[in-house]
Amino acid sequence: MYGLGILKGMAVTMRHFVNTYLDDIKWMSQGGRYYNDEALKVRQSLATTGAITVNYPEEKLSVPERFRFVPFLVTDAPEPGQLWGHDWCTSCGICAKVCPPQCIWIVRGTQPNGRPKPEPEQFYIDIDICMNCGFCAEFCPFDAIKLDHDYELASYDRTTAHIHDKTRLSKPLSYWQSTAPNKAEAEAAARNLKESLKGKRKSKDGDEEAPSLSEEHQQELYYQGAYYGS
Ligand code: SF4
Ligand code: SF4
Repeated sequence: MYGLGILKGMAVTMRHFVNTYLDDIKWMSQGGRYYNDEALKVRQSLATTGAITVNYPEEKLSVPERFRFVPFLVTDAPEPGQLWGHDWCTSCGICAKVCPPQCIWIVRGTQPNGRPKPEPEQFYIDIDICMNCGFCAEFCPFDAIKLDHDYELASYDRTTAHIHDKTRLSKPLSYWQSTAPNKAEAEAAARNLKESLKGKRKSKDGDEEAPSLSEEHQQELYYQGAYYGS
C-alpha cells in the first residue's frame, strides 16, 4: 500500500513523543529526569524511552574516557598553595613538530649558564586551530601532554582567550588520573616497567626474570596506539 512507510515512520515518532511525557511523569517524584543522576544514567543506556536528546546546558551527558578535546600539560602534584607542580614536559618540541595544523608554540627555558633547560619557559596552543587529533599526546615521549575532557571553551574574546598559555594549560597528574583512570594506570605501569628494565640493564646480576605489563594494561595501551609489544 502506498504511504505505508510514511505511516510507520509517523507511528515511531508518535511513540517517542508519548514516551517522552510518560518518562517525565515517571521521574517526577524523584526530582525529574533532567536533574537526576539516576534518571540520566537510564537515559544514556539502551533502556531509555522517549526523546534521547538532553536539555543542554542544564543537563550534560558525561563523556567517555577516550573523549578528546584541546590538550593540557601534565605536571607533578602541586605544592601547598600552588595549582600545579613541576612540568613533565622537557620542551623537546616533538609535539610542535608533529602537530598537523602547527598550532603549538614552545619557548625552551635557559639555565643561568646559558645552556638549554629541559622544561618550557612558555607553551602556547591556539585552540581555534587545534583539531583535537591527539597526535601531540601520541608522540610525546614523556606522557606530558594529554587531551582534555573540558569542551566548554567558547568565549566572546577570540584574540586572547583562545590562545592557551602555560598557566592555562598546566594541570596536575591527579586531574589526568581522574579523567582517564584506565589509561593513566596503564601508562604508569609502562613507565615503571621501563624504569625497572633500565635498572636491570645496569645491574651486574641480570639473572632475574624481566617484569612484564599485565594483559589488561597491554590491551589498554594497544587500544591507545601506544603499545608495540615487548
Ligand atoms: S612532546 Fe611532550 S615533552 Fe616534548 S615538548 Fe611536547 S609536551 Fe613537551
Ligand atoms: S591535538 Fe592535534 S591539532 Fe591539537 S595541538 Fe595536538 S597535534 Fe596539534
